[in-house]
Amino acid sequence: MSDKEYFEAVQQFYEDRLKSQLKEKFRKCKGCQGDKQFIEKPGQLIYSCGKSSKSKDSKGDKCGHQMTINLARYLHYSEMKEDVNKVMDGSMDLSLFDEIFSKEEINKQNEIIKDNAKLFKKCKKPFSEQNQLKARVNVIKKTHKNRIQLKVEQNLLLHKFKNEEDFVKKQTLMKEYLQINKRIKEEYDELLTSNKPLNNFLVIEEGSVIKST
Ligand SMILES: [Zn+2]
Repeated sequence: MSDKEYFEAVQQFYEDRLKSQLKEKFRKCKGCQGDKQFIEKPGQLIYSCGKSSKSKDSKGDKCGHQMTINLARYLHYSEMKEDVNKVMDGSMDLSLFDEIFSKEEINKQNEIIKDNAKLFKKCKKPFSEQNQLKARVNVIKKTHKNRIQLKVEQNLLLHKFKNEEDFVKKQTLMKEYLQINKRIKEEYDELLTSNKPLNNFLVIEEGSVIKST
């Protein structure tokens, strides 16, 4: 199942539902007795024309069940990270109080901490890849390095400017100085535009569509 197929099915579900709510003629399809049904269950969307003609009921509908969409499951990386941090940093080490807590309680806590660490480790790489974090850091570093270099050049120009007596040469130096200002600003703007918002949603289960014919 391609992503495209899945997203198109989800879109179709909501579009057809909206149409059927807005206009009488979209409430049924040709050859179907009952209204189209749009059922939302946790993690599932069902698009159906009610009873199928294949069923025992003679007043069945032509389409019957049309499609079932199993929704993709997502995990929000930032929220997950926050929760994991709470568990990792906020948990008291129960083993220090083994007179108060049972072995079972201590083991259970260790298990929870271990699971959280595992979850974080599992998500870190896909999140980084999804958002090209390495490339982002590189661009920031490069821009910063350039900026320092340009500032050095500007200082040299300023120094020359102060010691220069010839008016025309002074003007040229000032122009060069301002040119660099412009470049610094441009590079900074480029950095801002390249730094798109992070996509925090990690797919932990792909969506799927089952169509009935
Ligand atoms: Zn139908």
